[in-house]
Amino acid sequence: MDLSALEIIHYPHPTLRHTSRPIQRVDDELRDIIRHMFPLMYEARGVGLAANQIDLPLRVFITNLEVEPEEGEERVFINPVISQTKGIIEQEEGCLSIPGVNGNVKRPERVKIQAYDLDGQAIDLTVDGLFARVVQHEVDHLHGVLFTDRLSETGKMAVREDIEELESSFRCRRETGSMPSDQEIRARGREMEERYG
Ligand code: ZN
Repeated sequence: MDLSALEIIHYPHPTLRHTSRPIQRVDDELRDIIRHMFPLMYEARGVGLAANQIDLPLRVFITNLEVEPEEGEERVFINPVISQTKGIIEQEEGCLSIPGVNGNVKRPERVKIQAYDLDGQAIDLTVDGLFARVVQHEVDHLHGVLFTDRLSETGKMAVREDIEELESSFRCRRETGSMPSDQEIRARGREMEERYG
């Protein structure tokens, strides 16, 4: 796999709507791909990135709440499961795959998250604040859910034009041949699912 070819995909790329398959095995290639997600996330100034945002339909996401490579803690969550949610809080969110779009989303304030890290060690954390929001946003991605799906009706209205602009620029990339067809994207995704899922 050519790591330099990996990039963050944008709405309405079909892999963002794909339900990611649990990972059954991790090898050096997959480890390299996951590690390479960090520079992509930093470059885009994000705090979390799910694998399907780089067109990899597997159940893993990464976080670093400090946005900077030299600061904060880099975490990898493989096969994450959220449980024991508590409270509700509304806050503004954005997404590296939906550039230029922001809106308020209601989510549980505190959640428990269980997963595995890159070394196969179990992660079992109860998180709140920004951390809780990020892990819920990223687990949503792995289920093909985008934060814009969770906006209120007025929130959806407010971002409609920006969403339509992303849709038309995607169509444009398709027409000029710089974006593969849905079939080609699925075929490549299935290859990775068969190798690791
Ligand atoms: Zn996102």
